Parts: sequence; C-alpha cells; structure tokens
Amino acid sequence: MNPSATQQPRHPGDEAAPGTPGSGEDVCPVCSGCGKTPDGKACPNCGGTGRIVEGIGGG
Ligand SMILES: [Zn+2]
Repeated sequence: MNPSATQQPRHPGDEAAPGTPGSGEDVCPVCSGCGKTPDGKACPNCGGTGRIVEGIGGG
C-alpha cells in the first residue's frame, strides 16, 4: 500500500523519478553514458546505468 514501493531507486544524478511527467532520460554527463568511471567503477552519478533522469521545463 506504499506508493513509493513501486518506484525505482533514485540515483544522485537523477533530477526526477522515472516516469515523472515533464522529465526525460539523458546521457549521464559524468560518465558520458558508459556507466563507469575512468577507474572502471560504477558511475556514482547514474548508478552505473549511464543514463539519468532530468527534469524538463523547470516545473
Ligand atoms: Zn554516470
């Protein structure tokens, strides 16, 4: 019964929750979409997905 239980985990680079109206995915600016840092570790900004969710329109 907890609405938040169905939401996907948020990453530090996400500006909005996945599926949020007015938001969209974009390539992570930290890892350029590869999902890893130059050290070969999972990118902390996007959680290793290489993509982040950005808010659009500043709503
Ligand atoms: Zn990243």
